[in-house]
Formats: sequence, structure tokens, C-alpha cells
Amino acid sequence: YNSETEVGQLSMSLNRMLGHIEDAFDARTRSEARLRQFVADASHELRTPLVSIRGYSELYRHGALRDEEQVGQAMGRIESEATRMTQLVEDLLSLARLDSKRELATDDVDLLVLAHDAAADFAASSPDRSVTVTNLDDGPATPVWTRGEEAKLRQVVANLMTNAVRYTPKGSDLQILIGTVPLTGVPRDQRPSTAGNTDPAEFLAQIKVRDHGPGIKGADRAKVFERFYRADTSRTRETGGTGLGLSIVSAVIDQHGGTVTLEDTPGGGATFVVSLPSISTPEPPPETLDELP
Ligand code: ADP
Repeated sequence: YNSETEVGQLSMSLNRMLGHIEDAFDARTRSEARLRQFVADASHELRTPLVSIRGYSELYRHGALRDEEQVGQAMGRIESEATRMTQLVEDLLSLARLDSKRELATDDVDLLVLAHDAAADFAASSPDRSVTVTNLDDGPATPVWTRGEEAKLRQVVANLMTNAVRYTPKGSDLQILIGTVPLTGVPRDQRPSTAGNTDPAEFLAQIKVRDHGPGIKGADRAKVFERFYRADTSRTRETGGTGLGLSIVSAVIDQHGGTVTLEDTPGGGATFVVSLPSISTPEPPPETLDELP
């Protein structure tokens, strides 16, 4: 029995414990500060369209609008500011739901189907542009399976496509690329796993949305995923975004154990790369009773 060693060990464990408590406390203060900042930013973003709606209705009520044309203009502004607020509130709700850490649905999702559906929706809404779906080497695309919540993964692709249209010149073409890349070289314990499954993935399923616009440069590259961040060029233009699209993308992909990164398109433009743990082709359901074991 050596009381000196025991006291020494005890004091070491106590110190370690104190360290953990301090870390937890720091993390909590940091997350509270982030939350406060978020609420402040959200209020600011909502107040801007409200101020403008109030301004136009006051002008109208005080008879300050000279003719039908001015009244028409004011009503148009009120309508577009209200639309903007609706979009903001919808995006804020999406983020709040993602933050609530609800369990993900575990659908088997084929990225090829997602890509083709996104391309079809897109062709209907932007007839002046073309969008192609290929594999990662520009060849014909084949099915790429991952597991997760299909509706959320669809929203990810839709947000990236909306941006690719919003921030590139009219008529410029888009590309969706899908495929799998092996996780060789990544230690097994550092590999991600799919929702509802703890086995580490052997492959990543990737979906890339590629445009040929101005791309994203310098300090903006890291910041575009932050909530409410918009590059100066987009703030000044009337593009109609909320600054939340990419934060939603990043939160959804994070929840799925994946990553989203930004690459430059060869020759100019932005390419957003979403990587998710891949699963092999799901077993088809048995078609007859005889097939059941
Ligand atoms: P929003 O589009 O609503 O402003 P996002 O979070 O989707 O918000 O995007 C943040 C910012 O990133 C945009 O305001 C824009 O400056 C920049 N950005 C996003 N996608 C692209 C793109 N494909 N090309 C150029 N800039 C982009």
C-alpha cells in the first residue's frame, strides 16, 4: 500500500476530470453563442423585408402613390418581399428540423434516379439551358446506391441545382455527375457508415453538381456553407436567395455521415461534390413465395 502513489493518481484523475468538465463547459458556451448569433441573424433577415412591406403600405395609406402605375409597383414589391419571407421561414424550419437530430429514415436511394428526376424538373423550369447526367468520367451513368432519407437527399440536389442556375449566366449548361470511389487508404475505423448500419463503407457514393459560371473564389470558398453568408456579388444582385441553401445541404449531408466540398470546374465554374457512404445494390424483394428461405 503506497498512499503517496495513490494520492498522486487520484490527483491526476481529478485533474483529467476537471479538464473534461472545462471542455464540456467551453463547448456549451460556444454553442450558446452560436445559437444567439443565429437568432440575431435570422431576426435581421426577417426584419428587412418586413420594413419594406410596412414602408410600401404606409405610402399607400397616406395617398403618397401618385397613380395606378406606382400603386402597381408598390403592390409588386410587397408581394415579392412576402415571397422572400416565406422562403426564409421555410428554410429556417428545414434547419430547425435538421438540428433536432431526429432519426433519419433509411431508404435505399439510387443517386441515378435522383439525378434524372432533378434533371427532368430542371428541364421543365429552365428550357433555355441543358443539363446532362453522366458518370464521374463523363461517360454513361449507372445506378449508385446509398442509404438515407430520400426526401432530404432530393432537397440537397435541388438546392445545388437552384444555385447553379441562380449564379450562372442565362443559357449556360449544367452537369450532374454520379459514381462511386473506393475508400482504399482510409483506415477502417475512420470510414463513414450508412444510416441504420454500423459496418464501415468500402466505397463513397458521389454526386456532383457542376456549372460553368464565375465559380467561387478566395475567402468565400470556406464561408459559403455558413448560415446566411452570401458573397458580395450575390447580395448586390437581385437573385432571391436566403443565404441558407448551402447550410441546409451541409447539415443534411452531415446527418448522413457524408461530406460536401467545393471544387473548381476545369475551365471555370463551381462544382459541388457530395460524398456519402455507399451500399451495394440492394437485394430485390422476393417475387414468389418459393424464393423465401
Ligand atoms: P443563397 O443562394 O440563398 O444566397 P446559399 O447558402 O445557397 O445561399 O449560397 C451562399 C452563397 O454562395 C451565395 O449567395 C453565392 O454567393 C454563393 N454560391 C452558391 N452557389 C454558387 C455557384 N454555383 N456559383 C457561384 N456562387 C455560388
